[in-house]
Amino acid sequence: MALWARAAVRALRLWGPGGERAWARQPRITGGSRPGSRSAGISGVHGNGGSGGTEKFSLQDVAELVRAGACRRVLVMVGAGISTPSGIPDFRSPGSGHYSNLQEYDVPYPEAIFELPFFFHNPKPFFALAKKLYPGHYRPNVIHYFLRLLHEKGLLLRLYTQNIDGLERASGIPASKLVEAHGSFASATCTVCRRTFPGESFWADVLVDRVPRCSVCTGIVKPDIVFFGEPLPQRFLLHLADFPMADVLLILGTSLQVEPFASLSAAVRNSVPRVLINRDVVGPLAWCPRSRDVVQLGDLVHSVEKLVELLGWTGEMKDLLQRETGKLSG
Ligand SMILES: [Zn+2]
Repeated sequence: MALWARAAVRALRLWGPGGERAWARQPRITGGSRPGSRSAGISGVHGNGGSGGTEKFSLQDVAELVRAGACRRVLVMVGAGISTPSGIPDFRSPGSGHYSNLQEYDVPYPEAIFELPFFFHNPKPFFALAKKLYPGHYRPNVIHYFLRLLHEKGLLLRLYTQNIDGLERASGIPASKLVEAHGSFASATCTVCRRTFPGESFWADVLVDRVPRCSVCTGIVKPDIVFFGEPLPQRFLLHLADFPMADVLLILGTSLQVEPFASLSAAVRNSVPRVLINRDVVGPLAWCPRSRDVVQLGDLVHSVEKLVELLGWTGEMKDLLQRETGKLSG
């Protein structure tokens, strides 16, 4: 029997009729589990948690666990790779990234666009980039809508994104389910008097290439994007509660090179399956792999479509995409 099928059978044994007895027969995870938590049972399903396991996990195993109801809290981390199918270049891709396209902005070196000293010297390049990312210029793709479907099914514990393009919000995932770790254009703050402004207030200026100014003190109004050296948003602290609670971690389209975001991938319990869907093996999954890691390399859209199929959600995905496309053309 294929590994995935065995996993499914075990999962069904646990959560199907007589599940409690099956539970009692399974060894329980030691450490990190929550008393009385059903979902901690995924550890029991697969024997001793963490590095002690010997079976190789597959995408199908994880899909079967979700289908069987054994993974109810799906935590997701995403990076620039999920936005490239929407036409937004990866910040770090040589030749095609934002950093490579900055000549037109007249910046001394690429990172300067997100550095406060350069911003105060010349805020125009940053606002030129902001204008490119104006809501509506780019549209969510099938990966964003897969995450929206996770939310609609009540499975999305939280979505941690490094992206500042706002496509997670645009796909219809509520702000309460998001941690925009590097900030967003949804709000802004005066750099002088610290007054806060809603996102709508500065776009009118940005769209006509004018630097937005505070209506009270005339200081530059900076969208709440996290620049180098700035603290992460308060909401990032939610990771302290979210990661120990996760039943499965999906990591999509990120090179996991920026801290502290990158370290989060190691913050789930050892027994929790981690699924990396990316072009390459990266970060902690490459140098400190765990027995329940699943690595799905290659084209992101194809990989996500494969996962959707394994989950049995292809029809619902098509319906959702059709509804959203209809909205756009309507
Ligand atoms: Zn001000």
